[in-house]
Parts: sequence; C-alpha cells; structure tokens
Amino acid sequence: MSDAADVTRHGGPELPQERRLVTEIPGPVSTAKFARRDQHVAAGVGTTLPVFVEAAGGGVLVDADGNSLIDLASGIAVTSVGNSAPEVTSRVVEQAQAFTHTCFMVTPYDGYVDVCERLAHLTPGTHPKKSALLNSGAEAVENAVKVARSFTGRDAVAVFDHAYHGRTNLTMAMTAKSMPYKHGFGPFANEVYRAPVSYPFREPAPVSGEEAADRAIDVLEKQVGAANLACVVIEPILGEGGFVVPAPGFLPRLREWTERHGIVFVADEIQTGFCRTGDWFACDHEGVVPDLVTTAKGIAGGFPLAAVTGRADVMDAVHVGGLGGTYGGNPVACAAALGAMEAMEKHDLAARARALGETMTRRLTALAEEYPVIGDVRGRGAMMAVEIVGADGHTPDAVRAGSLSAYCHAQGVVTLTCGTYGNVLRFLPPLVMPDHLLEEAFDVLADAFASTT
Ligand SMILES: *Cc1c(COP(=O)(O)O)cnc(C)c1O
Repeated sequence: MSDAADVTRHGGPELPQERRLVTEIPGPVSTAKFARRDQHVAAGVGTTLPVFVEAAGGGVLVDADGNSLIDLASGIAVTSVGNSAPEVTSRVVEQAQAFTHTCFMVTPYDGYVDVCERLAHLTPGTHPKKSALLNSGAEAVENAVKVARSFTGRDAVAVFDHAYHGRTNLTMAMTAKSMPYKHGFGPFANEVYRAPVSYPFREPAPVSGEEAADRAIDVLEKQVGAANLACVVIEPILGEGGFVVPAPGFLPRLREWTERHGIVFVADEIQTGFCRTGDWFACDHEGVVPDLVTTAKGIAGGFPLAAVTGRADVMDAVHVGGLGGTYGGNPVACAAALGAMEAMEKHDLAARARALGETMTRRLTALAEEYPVIGDVRGRGAMMAVEIVGADGHTPDAVRAGSLSAYCHAQGVVTLTCGTYGNVLRFLPPLVMPDHLLEEAFDVLADAFASTT
C-alpha cells in the first residue's frame, strides 16, 4: 500500500497516487460497459480511451476494473485543481443543499455575482470589467461575438488557421478543421474570415511574431477591411489545432492593430486559462490586455460553467435581455468555480503549472534528442506537446502519434492527441499531480518511443 506521501494532499478523494494495472486496458468490466454504451449512446460521440471511471483525484483515474491510470488529460484541461477537489466539493454540496436553480434572469443570487467579481479581478487588465456567465465554451465564444457586434455595429469576425472555438453553428464556422468538427454539418454562419496564424515550426522560413502579425493584418485589411470587423478572436496558444505557440510579438502586434481600428480583441482562453500555462491567463505572458476574454474548461473544477469577461463599456453595449440563458451561471457551477479559484490561489497552482512544465520540457527535450520523429517540443506551463513527423523532419505522422498514444493507454497513461494534422501528442496533467507520477508517466512515454519507433 501507499504511504502518506503517495496520497494526494489537495484534490480528490484520497486515492493512492500510483499507476496500478490489474487487467489489460480496457479490462473486462470496462469492455462489457462499453458494449452497453454502444447500444445506447450515439455513435457520433467519440471515446479516446474506453475505460469506465469510478473515482478520480490528484493525478489518477481509477477504472471499473480497479486499474489506476495516470491522467495526462484532465478531461481536456478541465480538472486543473484535481478531480473532486475539497474546495470544490464542499461548496458544491452546501450550495446543492441550499438551492440548485432559480435562473439568474428570474431571481438573482450571490454566487453568480461573486464569480463575475473574481473574473474581473483575475483576467488581464485593471480597467472596469463585467461578465456574463454561460454553460459551455462554445456558448461563451458565441456571446463574445454578439457583444462585439453590438458594441461596434459591425458584422465581420476574424479567426485564424488551426483555430478551435467550438461545435455550435457559429463556432463551427470559426473552427478551422473540417473532420471531425464540421464535416457534413454545413451550411455555416457567414461573415467569418480566416487569417494566417504564426506557427513557427511550419513556417517555410523563419518569420518573426511581428512579421506574422503583419501578414495576418494584410489579409484582413485587403479581404475584409478593418472598418467591417467587429472582432478578432484568437486563442493565445492554439489548443485543438496543435498547441501552437505563436512567435513572441504576434499577439501584441495584433492587439495594437485592433485597438487602432476599434476592433474588439477577444482572447479565447477557454483551454489556456486558469493557471494552465503558468499564469492566470496565457495573455499575461506577453502583457496583452484583451477587450474580452472567454473562459470555460478549468474555471469550475469539472462543472459546466463558462464566461465572457471584459471592458465594462463593451459588455454593456448589449440591450437588456440580449444575453443570458436558462442555466448560465447555475448556482452549483458558480459554487464550484469559487472553490476552484480558491484552490488555485491557496496552492499557487500557477507556480505548480510552471514546475510541471519544467519537468515535461526536460523530459520531452531529452526524447527529442533521441528520437527524430519528434519534430517540435512546444507549449507553456502544464500545456505541453510534441509534434510527430516523418523521416524528413517535417511531414506530419498522425499514424505514429496514434500508436504512441495507444501504447501509453495500454500502459495506464491517459494521453491525448490533437492538431490540424492529428500528429500532436499533448500533455495536460492536473496541476495537483505529484512529481513522481508525472515522471512515471514520462517513463512510459519514453518506453512508447523506444518500442514504436
Ligand atoms: C474547448 C474549447 C472551446 C469549446 O468549449 P466547449 O465547452 O467544449 O464548448 C472553445 N475554445 C477553445 C480554445 C477550447 O479549447
């Protein structure tokens, strides 16, 4: 059994912080459950790793067969504070027992206002800010566009190559990749225009961040016109598109241009926000202050909550009743968010993200020296990735990325792939993961490279 040091100190039920395999992955119980899932759940809903989870906390997921897996996914950058973090669950229980729903638009309650006050304080910039709370990231992005259009009286929306903004109709138009997100689901919303991003690894020749921004600005000025643009929406580090980190200077130059032309600058921090990259928000890294920030994922320790936060004058451009929704800012989700933010502050999870990032960078850089199939190591804080390429050091190799990931799954490490070309392995550990588990996960990854390349 585990000693006290192996038991998670913050986050989750006190599960032993260990990788423990007692069956093959998936085991017989999960496999039987999966057959039932196939019978009742729509085929379009995909599954990365078909183990059924029964408990999770710290850095592990425990499945129905009794296997304990190391979690390098955090439910896609959601459980940054760990699963069932005590700060989250205690507030959730208390709130659920007091009341579960009124609809904030019918009769308000403190939790909603508290979350908006915290968001104003935590998001970049010291100017007066206001927020609207929603249920999902896609809904936050949609609402940011509504706000920007109201404020500017303009229609056009600029997005970037490799962008991911969600799966609703407007956000499908804003998302770059066709399969699986858009294929067969058109027609899409109009007035969405795509500009080239800064993707240092895939530039034919080195391009500085400023030059890449000027390239994007040129496309937007010539093909759309600055005066027609309501907003520019960008992920400061592109998530689903492959953890692409734009070259330094790209975001500040773009931000400065939007300011000059009265275009609302929307930072989609749904994946990068809430300490994931080692700051509260990824924009903080370059001192970029957006007009609006969209948040979701890590905001509430696993509960569905999302927000648009930004300049009070921009947010207030919308007529009364123009923003909202039945469940947006649900009281239980708000209680969870307040608990998650408390945990991030109390345990300084931004610093923890930087420490996890240092470990991952060290391990991945060493692997890249040994295995030329790693074309690029990139990311920031606890949002790291490697891009898998062919012998020419360039051609995307999604098949190999898939086998590497499958190897990790079979050995009890939950990894995810991403990227426009599907060839990026990404690592998103809960920020409360103990060091020894992270090291062990990367030992498994090293074995994966040794046995599949
Ligand atoms: C996940 C994600 C979204 C969509 O969030 P949902 O909650 O799945 O709707 C939007 N933008 C970014 C950057 C994301 O990572």
